[in-house]
Amino acid sequence: MIPISKPWLGKEEKDAVAKVLDSGIIASGPKVKEFEAAFAAFNGTKHAIAVANGTVSLHASLHAAGLKKGDKVICPSFTFIASANSILYQGCIPVFADVKEDTFNIDPKHVEKLLKQDMFHRIKAIMVVHLYGQVCEMDEINALAKKYGLKVIEDAAQAHGAKYKGTLAGKFGDFASYSLYATKNMASGEGGMIVTDSDEGARQLRVLINHGSDRVYYHTQIGYNYRMTDLEAAIGIEQLKKLPSFNEARRKNAARLKEAISKYGWVTAPFEGPENYHIFHQFTIKVKAGLRDRFLKHLNDNGVGAKIFYPIPVHKQPFYVEAMKYRVTLPVTERLAQEVISLPVHPQLTDAELKHIEKAFADFKE
Ligand SMILES: *Cc1c(COP(=O)(O)O)cnc(C)c1O
Repeated sequence: MIPISKPWLGKEEKDAVAKVLDSGIIASGPKVKEFEAAFAAFNGTKHAIAVANGTVSLHASLHAAGLKKGDKVICPSFTFIASANSILYQGCIPVFADVKEDTFNIDPKHVEKLLKQDMFHRIKAIMVVHLYGQVCEMDEINALAKKYGLKVIEDAAQAHGAKYKGTLAGKFGDFASYSLYATKNMASGEGGMIVTDSDEGARQLRVLINHGSDRVYYHTQIGYNYRMTDLEAAIGIEQLKKLPSFNEARRKNAARLKEAISKYGWVTAPFEGPENYHIFHQFTIKVKAGLRDRFLKHLNDNGVGAKIFYPIPVHKQPFYVEAMKYRVTLPVTERLAQEVISLPVHPQLTDAELKHIEKAFADFKE
C-alpha cells in the first residue's frame, strides 16, 4: 500500500537525537531554545514557543489571546477536531462557519454573516485553519477582525511554509499554532510551536506552558505542563532545514497528479488560489456525488492509501451533537465531507508510485 504519509527521517535526525541522549538533558533544555530561535527566524516572527503538540498550542494561544469562559470563537467545522476542542478547553464556545467550495477554507462571507448576527458581541475571536496546506483569505478575515475588534488565531498545523500574497502562514494572526505530529509537513513525533510578535503574549505563553510559574516553584496562576523535550526539538531543528525541499517535492507531486487526473470529468483537482503558495499537506480531490465511497474502495483495493479528511465535520460529531447540542447546518461543509478524498502526495513518493496512482484512476469504471 502506498501510504498517505511517510515521515522523512535521515541520518541528521538520528545523529541529533543521539547527541541529546549522550548529553543527558532529555527534557526541555538547550535544544528547545535552539529550535525556537530557528523557527522564529524561519517564520519571521519575534517569538516562537515550543510545546508538546499542536492541540495544546491552540489551547495556549487562545489563553494568551485573553479569551475568557463563555466567549464565542468562530472556527470552521471542516477541520480536525482539535481546532474546535481547543476552544472548549478554554471554556469558550465554537461558532462554526462554513467553508468555500474551491479552497475548503473558511468562508469570509459566512464569517461576516455570523458577526452581523452577534447582537451582544459575544464573539471575541476567529480561529482560521489553513486546511491541507493552503492559507485562508487573510485580507478579508483580518479586515473583519479589525472591524469587529476580534483576535485572530491561525491553526497552521498543516501549513508550515505556506504563503498568501508572498507572506508566510503564521504572520497573519495574533498567534499561530503549528503541529509537528508524525504526518505533518515537518515532524518531530509529537510537538507543537506557537509564533507571535507580541512580547506580552510570548511572556504569558512561557508561564502558562510551565505550570504558571515564571520563577522555579513560584506560581502566579494556574498553568499546564505543555513543554516540548530536547529529543523532539533535535528532530525538529533538522526537519526545519529540510522543510523547503519537502514542500517543493510535494508541490511537484501535486502538479503531476493534477495533470494526470485532469482528463477525468468525475473528479475535481485541488484548487490553488492565484495568490497562494500551497504546500499540499494533503492533495484533496472532489469526486462526483455518489461515486466517492466506491472510488475510495477502488483506490484502497489497488494499493493506494487514499483517505478521507475528514469524513464527519465537527458539528456532526456525536460529542458535539449529543453533549454540546449543536444543531447548525453548514451546506458546503456537509457536502464536501461526502465528496473529498486525499491521495498520497508526500515527498518520498517514487515515480513508480505516482504511475501506480495514475493507473488506479485509469482502471476505475465510473
Ligand atoms: C494535526 C492538527 C492539529 C493537532 O495537532 P496535534 O499535534 O496532533 O495535537 C490541529 N489542527 C489541525 C488542522 C491539524 O491538522
